[in-house]
This record gives sequence, structure tokens and C-alpha cells, in this order.
Amino acid sequence: PPYPIKMKGKVIQGFGRGSKELGIPTANLPEAATNALCEDVETGIYYGWAQVGDDSSVYPMVMSLGWNPYYKNEKKSAEVHIMHVFPEDFYGVELRVIVLGYIRPERDYDSIDALIQDINIDIKVAHLSLARPSYITFKSDPFFTNET
Ligand code: ADP
Ligand code: MG
Repeated sequence: PPYPIKMKGKVIQGFGRGSKELGIPTANLPEAATNALCEDVETGIYYGWAQVGDDSSVYPMVMSLGWNPYYKNEKKSAEVHIMHVFPEDFYGVELRVIVLGYIRPERDYDSIDALIQDINIDIKVAHLSLARPSYITFKSDPFFTNET
């Protein structure tokens, strides 16, 4: 797909799969937010930058793109884990993300530990990739700085 991909939407309630309990909360974007994606974009794990509400801070993120069971798996849904500790939840707040690359396809896991291990690798990959100067420039992209 043509990067960067810019997505935004107000954070919705997820399926309560307990991501937060695992220490990896994922902010779910509304279905319409995936309109920025071309139809054939692969499911899997992506990385990029994220911004919550009108806070000027931009943080690294990993995004899982998968089939949405709520829409009988006809639509894709995006869940964003931001690598930052927030003082409180931000349901209903506008989340903006710039997706810059793909990490891997989705996998089935035998155990929660294996899942967490993979996510921690994803997070390392994201940090390393985003350290490139050409990717750092996207932190100050007008998408994050303009009030629109
Ligand atoms: P849900 O199933 O409702 O998505 P989660 O357990 O995945 O529940 O938690 C997601 C929520 O946690 C987000 O909607 C957001 O309000 C909050 N949250 C707090 N910190 C983060 C973070 N670092 N990244 C993503 N979401 C976070
Ligand atoms: Mg979630």
C-alpha cells in the first residue's frame, strides 16, 4: 500500500478481549476510519505514529488490522496500541494515526505468553523503524499539527 496512510476517528469500545489486562491496551478506531485504506490492504501488524485528541504529543504506535467480527468479517477494523502511558482512558476522543509500514501478518497463538512475546517484538521493530530520520519527519506532519 502507498505509505503514509493517514487515519482518524473517535475511539470506540472494543470487544473487551482484555488487552488492557495484558498491559497492551488497544484503542479501537471506528469502522469509517478504515476508509483511508485501499480495499486490498493486508491484515496484520503495522507501525507508525499516533496522537490523541488536541494534545500536541505524537507517540509511536503499533496497529493491528483485522477482520471485524461485528460486521461478519466483511469489514476491516483497526486497533492501535500507543507506546505511552496515559493517565486515563480516552474513549470518544479523536485518535489520529499515520501508518508508515508493515511488520507481519496475524498469527494464531497457543498461549497468551506467546502472543505477548510477539507484541513485544513488534514494539521493538516499530521503535527501530521509526528512528529513521525520514520517518521522524512525519511526527510534525500537518495531519498532526493542524486543527482540522
Ligand atoms: P477495548 O476492548 O475497549 O478496546 P482495551 O483493553 O483494548 O479495551 O483498552 C483500550 C482503551 O484503553 C483505549 O480505548 C484507551 O481509551 C485506553 N488506553 C490507555 N492507554 C492506552 C494506550 N497506551 N494505547 C491504547 N489505548 C490506551
Ligand atoms: Mg482494544
